[in-house]
Amino acid sequence: MLGRIHSIETCGTVDGPGVRFVVFLQGCPLKCLYCHNPDSRAFQGGQEISAEDLFAKIWSYKSFFKSSGGGVTFSGGEPLLQAAFVAEMFEALQEVGIH
Ligand code: SF4
Repeated sequence: MLGRIHSIETCGTVDGPGVRFVVFLQGCPLKCLYCHNPDSRAFQGGQEISAEDLFAKIWSYKSFFKSSGGGVTFSGGEPLLQAAFVAEMFEALQEVGIH
């Protein structure tokens, strides 16, 4: 399955426990007054990526997760707009013990 992402932060420290691989998804229908990521709201743009390719990128950081108690955070944009893609990623990550 393909997802559309805005960007990736590989060593986030403020979006959950430990060192986080943060995936910012592209597209959000909301207009929060103090939007933290306004450039992620447009539905066009960003980059399409397959779940397999994103998993491979994440997997290369597994030692950071293990040593810090970290994992993966999906942000945006609005992750629920790509719920099937995010669910596929969560299932694959959970299978290998990455939260
Ligand atoms: S990207 Fe986040 S902060 Fe910005 S409008 Fe959407 S929900 Fe609000």
